[in-house]
Amino acid sequence: QVVTRFAPSPTGYLHIGGARTALFNYLYAKGRGGKFLVRIEDTDRERSTDDAVKAIFDGLSWLELFADEEPVFQFSRADRHREVVDQLLERGAAYRDFTPAEETARLRDEAKAEKRTFESPWRDREPTVDDLSQPHVVRFRRPLPGRVVVPDAVQGEVSWDAGDLDDLVLLRSDGAPTYNLAVVVDDHDMGVTHVIRGDDHLNNAARQSLIYDALEWTRPVFAHIPLIHGPDGAKLSKRHGAQAVHEYAEMGYLPEAMRNYLARLGWAHGDDELFGDEQAKAWFDLDGVGKAPARLDFDKLAHVNSHWLRLAADERLAGLTLDAHLAKGATLNEGDEAKLQQAMPFVKDRAKTLLELADQTAFVLKSRPLELDEKARTLLSGETADRIGRVRDRLNLFGSWDVFALEAELKAFAEEEGVGFGKIGPPMRAALTGGAASPDIARTLSALGREEALGRLDDALQ
Ligand code: GLU
Repeated sequence: QVVTRFAPSPTGYLHIGGARTALFNYLYAKGRGGKFLVRIEDTDRERSTDDAVKAIFDGLSWLELFADEEPVFQFSRADRHREVVDQLLERGAAYRDFTPAEETARLRDEAKAEKRTFESPWRDREPTVDDLSQPHVVRFRRPLPGRVVVPDAVQGEVSWDAGDLDDLVLLRSDGAPTYNLAVVVDDHDMGVTHVIRGDDHLNNAARQSLIYDALEWTRPVFAHIPLIHGPDGAKLSKRHGAQAVHEYAEMGYLPEAMRNYLARLGWAHGDDELFGDEQAKAWFDLDGVGKAPARLDFDKLAHVNSHWLRLAADERLAGLTLDAHLAKGATLNEGDEAKLQQAMPFVKDRAKTLLELADQTAFVLKSRPLELDEKARTLLSGETADRIGRVRDRLNLFGSWDVFALEAELKAFAEEEGVGFGKIGPPMRAALTGGAASPDIARTLSALGREEALGRLDDALQ
């Protein structure tokens, strides 16, 4: 069974790069009847915060990327990590290094100056009983000489000369396990079969592979995906725009649109751009992951979002649009959600985000009588006012409130009046919206509903 995991370090918000990594792991497992797990890598006690843990879970649940098991917190497994270090010591695959920290730093500098890899003097030295009571770190004893070969599912075969890697610390002098050790032990214990993560971890794959080998554990398949870049091709940074998943939620993107867009960021299935979760699960594979960094493209994201807005249920969109009105500081009234829901079919196909949808539905939430702006007032004076009165009476008698019937009725009315539609549309919009942006008149009437629309026309004639 395929088991994947997302293993964020809780030091900030959920980054969209992290979200994409989570999504790839999720899709890979789900498309194969496997399991998707989450592990919080909180071993760096100074940088890990509860707020960050919460932000990660909030981001993942917004994206609906739920783990199949309770999340694992890495720090809580430190005893198990130490137990595995003991096994490595017994196997001779690790050794105790009693070099004082300053001396290690000096030896490192010396090695660097001489362009060779640092080696601990304790690699080949037996400690005495007295030594054993002294502070020390435990280092991995990498097999020398040799090559470390990692067949990466995205990068192809990658290899390192073991001589160029150093003997990494497994346990610090205070007994704290290090990152590379903890990852291997946890991935092994969690039964992880595929490690899909950012290619900034490629070098760690070499070190981690050696630890697997030393323990005679089966290595997972590694897949290191290129990081996301900004639209200009430079490494993604603040100046490119939003980086946190919650910012995209606040900007009014739908989670399914975000999943669709992120799935396409660095992975392709032919020319398919718009697809849902089931297709993504069925199609996602590691062969389709590109070797070059993907670039964020905000226009494409907006396009994907408007597609999913059109498909979303009106009831759900009404609730989300209500939230967007609130976020914009609007004061809401009883019944507003129902009004938005009624309007949704007539407005949702023009918006790229929920914030735009809030702007475009502002007219629906106005309460009667509307405040008319200067322009609206001018449009509703004199001869035009009489005409609005006539169209109001006519609509009052009209049996249907279907958008197409309304459109035909308004056309017929214009013909009878012997005027172009330009003489009818603008004053009607003024009366119906007070001057706010709205869709065409038949849709505006439909969005408002019969009673409200006729009431607003009445008000304008007072
Ligand atoms: N905790 C690491 C990070 O957040 C990921 C480690 C991994 O996926 O192996 O970058």
